[in-house]
Amino acid sequence: MNNLYDNYHRVKDKVAKACQSASRPESEVTLVAVSKLHSIEAIKEIASYGQKDFGENYIQEALGKITQIPELNWHAIGPVQSKKTKEIIGKFTLIHTLSSPSFLAELEKRLPKNTVQNVLLQVNIGQEEQKSGLLPEDCAKFLEKVLMVDKIKLQGLMCLPPYHEDENITRPFFVQMRKLKEKLEQEFQVKIPHLSMGMSTDFVAAIEEGATIVRVGSDIFGTRPVK
Ligand SMILES: *Cc1c(COP(=O)(O)O)cnc(C)c1O
Repeated sequence: MNNLYDNYHRVKDKVAKACQSASRPESEVTLVAVSKLHSIEAIKEIASYGQKDFGENYIQEALGKITQIPELNWHAIGPVQSKKTKEIIGKFTLIHTLSSPSFLAELEKRLPKNTVQNVLLQVNIGQEEQKSGLLPEDCAKFLEKVLMVDKIKLQGLMCLPPYHEDENITRPFFVQMRKLKEKLEQEFQVKIPHLSMGMSTDFVAAIEEGATIVRVGSDIFGTRPVK
């Protein structure tokens, strides 16, 4: 029943093949294993195969896991309520979901002097009402604010496009993300290194379109237990 070893290596192979077909070095793409709602034992097993980066959606759950395995690179990939900011300081290698002025202000206030928090701006690329993230046209204005905060280092953009099983339906959103990133780099004369996009159904297309971080849950851990 437990095929974590096979699952993990199948995903690693798919990432490698996608890089090859896109003529990109594999070192350019980081696989984040999305472990939300999965057990500490499962995480430890995947870590034992050499996986370093893990993604969690729910802050309370994540903090419990981070306490148990602090040496892994933990990614916050779900919404963070501003009032939780204090608790997450220093815990996450990368926060993928910055998109609100209140969370930005709270981070600025809570981060100790001379520390740096790496962040991605979450973009609501499908312009879906129920999803969080900045609308593409609001990114420049928000980015301007982020760039003024020394303690916050903008590493890139993240998206969660409208769900579809067929990656060729999702693909145009990945292309839009790449173009948005290039436009912002031009406008602000900054390097925006990362694009966090692609999940189990569509990470191959995402890599082909320029993802540097893919977030894969089900294909590695199997079906998620219900919350
Ligand atoms: C759950 C989740 C994933 C992983 O989804 P899978 O379909 O299980 O690969 C990726 N990104 C975010 C933001 C998620 O919430």
